[in-house]
Amino acid sequence: MTVGGLPMAVPAEGLPARVRIHEVGARDGLQNEKVTVPTEVKAEFIRRLADAGLTTIEATSFVHPRWVPQLADAEQLFPQVGDLPVDLPVLVPNERGLDRALALGARRVAVFASATESFAKANLNRTVDEALAMFEPVVSRAKAQGGHVRGYLSMCFGDPWEGPVPVPQVVRVCRALRDMGCDELSLGDTIGVATPGHVRALLTALDAERIPVEALGVHFHDTYGQALANTLAALQQGVTTVDASAGGLGGCPYARSATGNLATEDLVWMLRGLGIDTGVDLGRLTATSVWMAEHLGRPSPSRTVRALSHKEQ
Ligand code: MG
Repeated sequence: MTVGGLPMAVPAEGLPARVRIHEVGARDGLQNEKVTVPTEVKAEFIRRLADAGLTTIEATSFVHPRWVPQLADAEQLFPQVGDLPVDLPVLVPNERGLDRALALGARRVAVFASATESFAKANLNRTVDEALAMFEPVVSRAKAQGGHVRGYLSMCFGDPWEGPVPVPQVVRVCRALRDMGCDELSLGDTIGVATPGHVRALLTALDAERIPVEALGVHFHDTYGQALANTLAALQQGVTTVDASAGGLGGCPYARSATGNLATEDLVWMLRGLGIDTGVDLGRLTATSVWMAEHLGRPSPSRTVRALSHKEQ
């Protein structure tokens, strides 16, 4: 099947010329899918994402296989893709995970912190500060090896147990992750409840805290259909790194919704229409997501994937 079609590019003022997409489908996406994909299919998926022009592709997670069985093959997968000419960050939950990643030559790693006590407890069985203490040696050891560290921050806008999350609470954890040495932070709207004014308020507060916008990425979920509106608000505040998942892989386990991660194709469609360069070939990417959807046995939730792939069927 071929796929095609692009929006007319009509640039708008006050937006960046280029956006770097941090592709999370192979990690955040697949870890939240019910079907466990064979290692060879994952490797092919990552190769196809690179071929479609994505330059940052989060490859897998070195969390204990018992907790995330979908990604239990990290040791087998990483060497199969390690020589691709793209950045391949991996998630490391603790020092043991870091050891495993470093042993395979990974030098770009990510830790996964929480802005709320409830999620820190549920996901890491620790308080927010205990989790930060656990990450400290991970970050410092990765940095000592010349590595690049991304700090994910979950529940930056709302939390399923606590409701709306106060901006100063998020700023405090961002500050701690930066002080620890994280090169980049990814602000996660884990349950998809953010709206554009809230995004602007958080980014304004981080700017006032002198956390450089170049060090910030945004990670929106489309649970309530707000991901692109929130992305646009973030771009207007100077953000140029946006997380997205090819084909919208990965539901939202906390909101019981089929719609979780912002689909990379939906993002590329909007950015392309705004005349913002991403380097991504939308046709190749869409074909890759259609191919992956066949492996998962369900259609992609991405509107753009559906529109483009139905067009020529
Ligand atoms: Mg996500």
